[in-house]
Amino acid sequence: MTETEKIKKQYGYENASAADVLTQQQIIAANEFCEDYKKFLDDCKTEREAVNTVVAQARGRGFKPFEYGKSYSAGDKIYYNNRGKSLILAVVGEKPVDAGVNIIAAHIDSPRIDLKPNPLYEDGEMAFFKTHYYGGIKKYQWPTVPLALHGVVVKKDGTELEIRIGEKDNDPIFYITDLLPHLADDQVKKPMYQAVPGESLNVLVGSLPVSGEGGDRIKNAVLKYLGENYGICEEDFISSELTFVPQMKARDIGFDRSLIGSYGHDDRVCAYPCARVLLDMDYTPERTAVAVLADKEETGSAGNTGMNTNFLYDFICELAGGQGVNVRKTLAASRCLSADVNALFDPNFPEVYEKRNSAFINHGVCLTKYTGARGKSGTNDASAEFVGLVRKILNDAGVVWQTGELGKVDAGGGGTVAMFIAKLNIEVVDIGVGVISMHAPYEVVSKLDVHSAYNAFAAFVRNSK
Ligand code: MN
Ligand code: MN
Repeated sequence: MTETEKIKKQYGYENASAADVLTQQQIIAANEFCEDYKKFLDDCKTEREAVNTVVAQARGRGFKPFEYGKSYSAGDKIYYNNRGKSLILAVVGEKPVDAGVNIIAAHIDSPRIDLKPNPLYEDGEMAFFKTHYYGGIKKYQWPTVPLALHGVVVKKDGTELEIRIGEKDNDPIFYITDLLPHLADDQVKKPMYQAVPGESLNVLVGSLPVSGEGGDRIKNAVLKYLGENYGICEEDFISSELTFVPQMKARDIGFDRSLIGSYGHDDRVCAYPCARVLLDMDYTPERTAVAVLADKEETGSAGNTGMNTNFLYDFICELAGGQGVNVRKTLAASRCLSADVNALFDPNFPEVYEKRNSAFINHGVCLTKYTGARGKSGTNDASAEFVGLVRKILNDAGVVWQTGELGKVDAGGGGTVAMFIAKLNIEVVDIGVGVISMHAPYEVVSKLDVHSAYNAFAAFVRNSK
């Protein structure tokens, strides 16, 4: 070994690929975990579907619905279903909650194409739904992608109807049109963010008219179909949450099958491991373990199912109240991993990444001290002390992990739920799986990275020091 190799080994920071570090057995375990994850992706394309799926699994593993005013003690497993759109799972620890609670928080909403309240119209002998996109999308990516319709409709009489059309092989799907290249001379010269305006993201839903005379015969054919098959009238759209999501299923990518392509990795790739850590817990932890699956992160966490509201705070108040301990002391002693995705280095776009501080594929879950934009604006920026603790927990547990920022300093930026958790006076740091093509209709993650996140979250909730 040369002098410089010696120095590098003793003092340098080297970040290895999980492929070079893990045993064959660990790689097999990661691949098996990802088979379950792929099923979760296909079953849970909206926050409501994710809540329903995790609640069913939690009940199967002995979790009971949370009750206000009840006192919970060691070993109790509870779930708090917040309006069917966000969820808290908890396993009550041996120590009273004012010793601190270990929290992992991820989000279960993803960018998508929502319907407008009055969506249905016809033009050019075709029927369309008007839409209003949800979250930060690159609009040009969504035309010509096969779409499925998911969501709920609350009808005139107050009954609720669940909709899921396009996921079964013989279901119809839906479609946003795009211009043929032969006539796109003007379109292709526009900046990408203008080439496909939001008001052109209209979804094709039919083309055959009802027979006879009169106007809007194609629109009326769609209304008739919806009325006869679903009992929906046009006004029902106003009290609905219907959304178009990519119809594609999660699939392995690459000859080596090392990657997963899917809609909605952001942030199910963290939410699924979060939930699994609590569901798999076959011991009573010392500190109470909490997993939060939040809604509305992609639109800034506002709204009573997002993290910029009191539902986590109220839940912890209830735990503390039930045990007769001080809630402020509980919050101050609590710790949280804000589990959300990060951008993986993409060699096709090297200009926006700073290689020494970027996450690389297969290098494990990514610990991110701060996010934000334009000089760390809008970030939590975790303390050295807390990053040091998390780093030690990960190293002691043999978790493959790395660090990375979201691109170059001036290239852009982004935020997570971390700042809303910090507002509760809880220690919090960002950590999560790296994604390629984040917010695209079909995103890519590495299987080894997904399993690394699970291992990281499991080690974190187990820790009581
Ligand atoms: Mn996210
Ligand atoms: Mn996102």
